[in-house]
Amino acid sequence: MQLTRLIYASFHKGTTANTIDSILRASRSNNVRDRITGALVVDEQHFLQLLEGSRTCVAQCFMRIMQDDRHGDIRIISAGDIVQRQFLEWSMHMIETTQIKRAIMSQYTVDGVFDPTKMSQTAVERLCRTLSGDDWKAEAA
Ligand code: FAD
Repeated sequence: MQLTRLIYASFHKGTTANTIDSILRASRSNNVRDRITGALVVDEQHFLQLLEGSRTCVAQCFMRIMQDDRHGDIRIISAGDIVQRQFLEWSMHMIETTQIKRAIMSQYTVDGVFDPTKMSQTAVERLCRTLSGDDWKAEAA
């Protein structure tokens, strides 16, 4: 199987607990079935998602995601072959930006604003690597 990682960012018009819950329920059940792992970062305006798995499954999943009207204006940040997964244990790891240590977030904000659609590929990949580790959670979270 050829392992692939795809990272994209998108805009949403506000999320409720129900929206997130419904996205995560579908994601986690489909992703376990399709052996997709990854993370979904959410803030007040954006989604940033990393998907990793077989080329075929990641492509099929992303095509469903592109048709989902709970977000729009999708920008692919990176896509390509990988040797190993970053998120080994997570069918979809949901991370709110408020959970992330300020010192880490400040490296990725411009004038206090986090906008993954404008970040460089290198910066997004560095953030994703950090989030796949253990040392990003703010103490209060
Ligand atoms: P269904 O069984 O048809 O739907 C699954 C659930 O989602 C149902 O409860 C349904 O009511 C609800 N739902 C579906 N579309 C909408 C909608 N437009 N508005 C409101 N509720 C809706 N899917 C994955 O499989 N893996 C992922 O990693 C993944 N990540 C996502 C990330 C984001 C930011 C978003 C917005 C969606 C994501 N999805 C993901 C969901 C994806 O877009 C599809 O809705 C889902 O894959 C459809 O699954 P299904 O065919 O099993 O659908």
